[in-house]
Order: sequence, then structure tokens, then C-alpha cells
Amino acid sequence: MSLTPELSPQPRLLIVGGGYAGFHIAKALQTKVKDRGGVVTLVDPLPYMQYQPFLPEIVGGHIEGRHAVVDHQTHLKDTEVVRGTVVKVEHARKVATVRGEDGAEFELPYQDVVMTAGATTRVFPIPGLGENGIGLKTVEEAVALRNQILERLDAASLSTDAEERRRALTFVVVGGGFAGIETVAEMENVIRTAVERNERLSQSEVRIVLVEAMGRIMPEVSEDQAENVVKHLQDRGIEVLLNTSLGDATGRVMTLTDMKSEDKAVKEKFPADTLVWTAGVAANGVAKQTDFPVEQRGRIEVTPTLQVKDGESGVLEGAWGCGDVCAVPDLTGSGPGGFCVPNAQHAVRQAKQLAANYMAVRHGEGEVAEYVHKSLGAVAGLGFLKGVGNPMGLKINGVPAWLAHRGYHIYAMPTLERRFRIASGWIAETLFGRDTTSVSGQDTPFNAFRAAAGVELEPVRFEQRERDTAQAEPAI
Ligand SMILES: Cc1cc2nc3c(=O)[nH]c(=O)nc-3n(C[C@H](O)[C@H](O)[C@H](O)COP(=O)(O)OP(=O)(O)OC[C@H]3O[C@@H](n4cnc5c(N)ncnc54)[C@H](O)[C@@H]3O)c2cc1C
Repeated sequence: MSLTPELSPQPRLLIVGGGYAGFHIAKALQTKVKDRGGVVTLVDPLPYMQYQPFLPEIVGGHIEGRHAVVDHQTHLKDTEVVRGTVVKVEHARKVATVRGEDGAEFELPYQDVVMTAGATTRVFPIPGLGENGIGLKTVEEAVALRNQILERLDAASLSTDAEERRRALTFVVVGGGFAGIETVAEMENVIRTAVERNERLSQSEVRIVLVEAMGRIMPEVSEDQAENVVKHLQDRGIEVLLNTSLGDATGRVMTLTDMKSEDKAVKEKFPADTLVWTAGVAANGVAKQTDFPVEQRGRIEVTPTLQVKDGESGVLEGAWGCGDVCAVPDLTGSGPGGFCVPNAQHAVRQAKQLAANYMAVRHGEGEVAEYVHKSLGAVAGLGFLKGVGNPMGLKINGVPAWLAHRGYHIYAMPTLERRFRIASGWIAETLFGRDTTSVSGQDTPFNAFRAAAGVELEPVRFEQRERDTAQAEPAI
């Protein structure tokens, strides 16, 4: 444990996680808390909040990766921003342990804490998945996936080995929820455009496969809409395999199993260089590194007032939480198991309610109220000018759904400055067409200088590349 860095001595409201919920809470409270002699401290390993609903748009190349993030330091001027990971919260002592960028740990005392550490990709122990797959939960993953797709197309176009070409031109997405469907649709769009522009490739060589373990996709929309989406994807040449799961991905050979057969028989086995995993999320593991009550799905238990529970009916003084890391009761009765689904629509509204309740409890300003929000429905973009959704219960498809998707998300993106940057990407694409430039060289930025300096470089083949999963710190 190193010495505590020079941080504010004021009574601290500590926010653990500056994502969609944490960012909004800091924005709502930073000046109010400061004016009352306290300080809002936001701890996050990332220097920015990322707006995850825009990740598929980054894969599709409609917007730039950095445009879907909002810098903490720039936009939270009255907040004490700490770049680090909270590894433990001891509420009994009112102290959090933070691991800084250089790996050293220090203790951060607080008066009040807000848990908004979100969720992580839910991964199952499938052989080869960790080594060969990529998730879609971060901007970095979205940018890397787009680069990989374009780089694999280039590699295939120069290969005379039929097996190598087939492997490079096969793309698999696992998970038929909103994120998976939006991702596979955007991938199809960018792949088709890039293939069209490369005369050494043909569309018939490309294989795009969506794998879903359940008998249907997109539980958020009605069954007939989901069936229409399946048909729409199939019309675009995407193979939609329902009741199918990924059993093995060792050596980038995908083994798919039939979920309907009793012995989970192998359905198909084929090589694929690109494997995207979007099969759900799990509450951030930091929830279990606290002395807060955690339910069986790993989420912190909170009351409808967004205070951490103490026993059956009480609340823990000074402890709050909302967003994907918490089990927030859904008082409308429509959430699965009685809890709000983990989405941005809830996270931002919970953040607003939590900030108001905090002011009422800590400073006696206003009334404490319970969080109630009836879902506005959902809209998904399925690539340029295509979409599906049921906003306010109204079933819409095609261009109207796509417009609703873009309109809603640009409205929900924090700050005018970011909205403007996103809109400028959309306008540029409309005027000049889809951008199929790959910047995969960003993974090896030192090579050009090393080559110039005469440092010998080993050519690294795609399959030998070190994957960051091998070096990643263990999740907490
Ligand atoms: C591809 C994709 C598409 C989506 N599309 C939609 C959509 O169309 N509509 C919708 O409503 N929702 C959508 N969502 C879900 C939505 O983005 C999330 O529900 C929302 O971001 C949750 O907000 P949050 O603040 O709880 O968590 P997050 O926004 O994930 O923020 C958590 C923050 O905590 C930080 N953190 C993590 N661990 C620690 C730690 N130990 N210490 C400190 N900080 C930590 C993280 O770095 C992050 O900044 C989508 C999600 C994805 C991945």
C-alpha cells in the first residue's frame, strides 16, 4: 500500500465508476456538493465515459471511436477525477482501496459512496474462446474489431491458399440480443462494401454467421418482429443459427453444437479468424469486493430509493448504487425477476433519481422518492437506413426505426460537443460514402520507427499475434 496521493481533505462523495450512470451523477452533484463544503471524487480506470450503444456504429465506420466517449476531466470540472480501479470497499470503515495506473494501491476515505461500476462481458468456459474471441463492451474492442475485419479482407485478397482465404472470410458473432444483432448487421454492411471495392474478392466467398443458443433473437421486441429481423438478416446473406451454441473455438476452429439434441450433438465445425462474443453481461466483480449485500447474480442489492440495503427493510447510511452493477427493483413490475434490465435507458434515469435522493438525505434538500420508470421500448440500428424497434409500444421497421435509433441515441449522448462530432461523422458518410479505411497498424505503432532505426523486426503472422487476453490483469 503506497501513501495516499494528495487528494482533497473535504468530506468525500466517492463515485466508483464514471460510466453512463456515474458520469451523470457526478455532473448533477459536483457543484452542489462543492458549494456545501464537500468534494465529489470519481474513480475509473478509464479517463472517459463511453456511450456503449454507439459501439456497433463504430464497427460500421459511421463514427469515430473517440467520438463515442466523453472525457471526465474536460466535462467534470468540479469533480476530483482519479484514474484508477477500486479493488475493495470497506463500508464499515468508509474506506475504498484504489489501484492506480502504476499498480500501486492506496486507501481513499469517504463520507458517502455510490457504486456505479457497471457490467462486464459474461463469458463461459469455452475452450479457445478467451484466446480467439473479442467482446463488444468497449470502444477499444469496437475499433479493433473493425480493423480486424478490414485487415482480414485484405489478407484474404492476397492469399492463394483456399483454406486460408476461407478462414479469413468467415465471421462469427455469438449472441442474438440487441448488441449482437446490431453488431452482425453493421459487420455485414462494412464487409460487403469493402469486398465490393476489392476486385480480388467476391461476395460469394464471404460467410457471416450469427449463433444464438435460444430459439429466438432480440427478446426486447415482439416475436413477429424478431422473426422479421431473422428474415431480413438472411436476405442479406447472414446465416442465423438458432438453438445453436459455440462449444469450442480452439485454434480458431468453431465447433457449433445443437442445443435441441439431447446429447448436444456437434452441428458444424469450421475455421474462422473472427469470433465476436456478445452473449450477455454480468455485474462487475467489484460488487463482491465490498461489504455490501450481493444477490445471486452478483449485483449489489439496493432499495427503490437507490440506497444499499441493510437487512430486509433498512438502508446502509452513506451507501448508494445504481446502473448495471446493482439489482434495482422495477416497481412497474415488468422487469425480469422484479428488477430493472441493465440498460442505458434505466442507468441515466436512476442516476438522476439517485442524485436527487442524495441531496435530500445528506443535505435535507427535497424529498426522497422511489425510482419508477416504464420502459420507452427499444430501437436497434441494423446498418445504414435499416432498423427495428418498438418505441412507446409502436412497432416500426426500416428507415423510421433507423431514424428513431439515431435520433434517440444522439439525444442520449452527453454533451453538445460530442453530439456535434457524432453528427459530423454521419454527415460525412452521407456525403462521401462509407469509410472502409483500416488503421490496424495502430496495434504496432513502434514498428515504423524501429525499422527506421535498424531494429530487426520479426514478421508476426495473424495467428501468432499476442492477444491482450494473455496479458490482461485478472478481473476483480
Ligand atoms: C454494444 C452495446 C450496445 C448497447 N445498446 C444499448 C441501447 O441501445 N440502449 C440501452 O439503453 N442500453 C444499451 N446498452 C447498455 C448500456 O450501455 C449499459 O446498460 C449502460 O452503459 C450501463 O451504465 P452503467 O453506468 O451502469 O455502466 P457503464 O456505462 O458500463 O460504466 C461502468 C464504469 O465503471 C468503470 N469501472 C469498472 N470497474 C471499476 C472499478 N473496479 N473501479 C472503478 N471504476 C470501474 C468502467 O470503466 C466504466 O466506466 C448497450 C451496451 C452495449 C455493450
